[in-house]
Amino acid sequence: MNGKMKAVLKKNLLPGLNVEEIPIPEIGEGEVLIKVRAAGICGSDVHMFEGADSYKVFEKFMPLVMGHEFCGDVCDVGSAVKAVRPGDRVVSRVAASCGDCRYCRSDRMHFCSVAFTRILGLQKNGGFAEYVAVSEESCILLPDAIGYELGALIEPLGVTGNAVNDSGLTLGETVVIQGPGPIGLLTLLHAKARGAGKCIVVGTKNDSFRLRKAKEFDADHIVVADEEDPVNAVRELTGGYGADVVFEASGVPQLLQTALDMCDKTGRVVVEGIYGSPGTIDFTPMVRSAKKLLGTYGGPIAWDRMIAWLSADSRYAKLPLSVITHRSKLEDAEAAFKRSVKKENIKELFIL
Ligand SMILES: [Zn+2]
Ligand SMILES: [Zn+2]
Repeated sequence: MNGKMKAVLKKNLLPGLNVEEIPIPEIGEGEVLIKVRAAGICGSDVHMFEGADSYKVFEKFMPLVMGHEFCGDVCDVGSAVKAVRPGDRVVSRVAASCGDCRYCRSDRMHFCSVAFTRILGLQKNGGFAEYVAVSEESCILLPDAIGYELGALIEPLGVTGNAVNDSGLTLGETVVIQGPGPIGLLTLLHAKARGAGKCIVVGTKNDSFRLRKAKEFDADHIVVADEEDPVNAVRELTGGYGADVVFEASGVPQLLQTALDMCDKTGRVVVEGIYGSPGTIDFTPMVRSAKKLLGTYGGPIAWDRMIAWLSADSRYAKLPLSVITHRSKLEDAEAAFKRSVKKENIKELFIL
């Protein structure tokens, strides 16, 4: 397809972005051109917008179209593409994997080292544009029950569903979610759906808008960490013990220690935030109380399960949509990102 398209570009690591007209991407024989219909701003995009130090490694790929949470309509396919056709509605994986390594052969293609060289929005042009070229195997068909807005949420829903899976959460266990952003709130949604007991959401005064949303998502208790000591507050709410499972979703490195301190002996801390810089933790108390510290990182199986869950019952498909608080146009990307920095939104989508 010839012509130009609007795109949200990161040209260097200085704070900010540019919305510009660039050529519509050409597709190779195994590639698919997607007309983007909805794309969500992720916390990692916000780090990139702000120019976080840990994103320095991606500077060599700039100028780059941002965005990895998107879905749309297939409008063109390369000559070797078999699995999708023009007109199909698809969500795209974050990165195309090699198909051949031990991770790819065991349904863990999101750990494929080749995939880590092709991350959309970080190393290859992503979805904050009218069109994006992706590999055929990156496309997952969306059933009719999943509209475009929900389609753009599949990635964070997969990440958070997987986090709850990895935590081994069982019925009635007490849960803390630290950080009420989109990942925190979707984790709350999954934890509730899996029959968690008391769910405590921890944020700051700055998060007041997001904490109100946490109440709408049936959080049992809200702790405002700059009004009361959050570790003491969690202990008081859990009979002095701490929570069975703490999800660290704030992305603030200093709060890894707080997450451990909120956790009961032998409990689990599941880290799902992405951090702009390294953090330090005191390991000895963690060892002596046999707490488990786990990283969790989405994955395609989680996406398939997510699509199956959301299409199983129209009530499930409605639930996550309430994290979408703002819908914007690509040309208003700067304002959308500023809202994200100031935490005035939860999930903000570009609708095209
Ligand atoms: Zn994301
Ligand atoms: Zn591989």
